[in-house]
Amino acid sequence: MSDCVFCKIIKDEIPSDKVYENDEIVAFKDINPTAPVQILIIPKTHLSSLSRAKKNHQEVLGSIQVAAAQIAEDKGISNAFKLLTLSGKGAGQEVFHIHYHLLGGWKNKKK
Ligand code: AMP
Ligand code: ZN
Repeated sequence: MSDCVFCKIIKDEIPSDKVYENDEIVAFKDINPTAPVQILIIPKTHLSSLSRAKKNHQEVLGSIQVAAAQIAEDKGISNAFKLLTLSGKGAGQEVFHIHYHLLGGWKNKKK
């Protein structure tokens, strides 16, 4: 989609700090992180949100989870991370190109 900020990141039309890329997926650092490590993982094909996912998206959505595990390993957070997607304005979604937040890097909690 021509007016989609994440499609522009995929095409390098706007800058991003990419940490992972393959044929199907791009991952880059969130511009406004809320955790010590916050990476966004997106499919290269435009899909607005998880609510629109169909059978043909199954493979790439699975690939995102496998990529998340690899990126978590690479970033040294594989012992504690969250993988989160927001679907719909009411859930807080702001960018309507599906993305998964990989969050981690918190200091170990004693309790
Ligand atoms: P969400 O509320 O799930 O739609 O989150 C959108 C996320 O995209 C937010 O955490 C933003 O900080 C992030 N974001 C928006 N624009 C950019 C950008 N150009 N580069 C990196 N992250 C971005
Ligand atoms: Zn897009």
